[in-house]
Amino acid sequence: VVRAEDVRKSFGDHEVLSGVSFDVGQGTVTVILGPSGSGKTTLLRSLNGLEVPDSGTVTVSDVTVDFGSLTPNRSGRLPRAQREQLTALGRQSGFVFQAHNLFAHRTTIENVIEGPVVVQGEDEGSARERARALLEQVGLAEHADKYPYQLSGGQQQRVGIARALALRPEVVLFDEPTSALDPETVGEVLTVMRDLAEQRWTMVVVTHEIRFAREVADQVLFIDGGVVVERGAPEQVILEPQQPRTQAFLRRIL
Ligand code: ATP
Repeated sequence: VVRAEDVRKSFGDHEVLSGVSFDVGQGTVTVILGPSGSGKTTLLRSLNGLEVPDSGTVTVSDVTVDFGSLTPNRSGRLPRAQREQLTALGRQSGFVFQAHNLFAHRTTIENVIEGPVVVQGEDEGSARERARALLEQVGLAEHADKYPYQLSGGQQQRVGIARALALRPEVVLFDEPTSALDPETVGEVLTVMRDLAEQRWTMVVVTHEIRFAREVADQVLFIDGGVVVERGAPEQVILEPQQPRTQAFLRRIL
């Protein structure tokens, strides 16, 4: 359902992604591991066009963007058809940010229905109904009418997850969803993510939570220096890494 082929991205003369390729099967969980600065976030953002790679292709479901063929004009603007392609790619996925991404002046449920109603044009009644079910699923049914400041960090992050799911995406992308949380609330967010995996949501997760990777991932990618150094089942990559760089990384964090 997701395919990245030879994705490259530089910031100035710093090449952050040097040709990254991988596939993600429908209903599977892929965890991306790697040292700080290895390009994990840039890669994840490239999957939905939040970051525009210099070249390579990304496919999500039935939308493919060949980044090398995009032709910005002198002021950096893309022709309309190409902008629409990027928008179409972005709409295939839901994105869960590190933290602090809710609208502060809207309640929980208003945050969840915003995308479906404003972006997707869904009728507000049906969006609310779905949002209630999603809030139930992330354990926040009784907090629907609270504002973000009335919620803990873990609860806010669960709202962020419900909001991503409300878009009915083909894939949910998680960018270090627990790294900004207090240790005692990390578990509740990981529990919700485990439930989603059991329900066969397609997920791509950048995280340092090795135990989550080991127990929940179908596939682990270890990236370093802008390339996929090692890729495979968690038993393989985490428990029996073959590459010295993967071994060194795991020794540091375990
Ligand atoms: P971390 O685990 O610390 O979040 P990461 O593996 O997610 O790291 P990225 O955030 O993808 O790494 O960043 C990779 C490199 O690209 C870093 O050196 C970062 O400074 C650089 N970088 C990322 N975004 C930009 C940008 N918009 N402009 C310039 N450099 C950037």
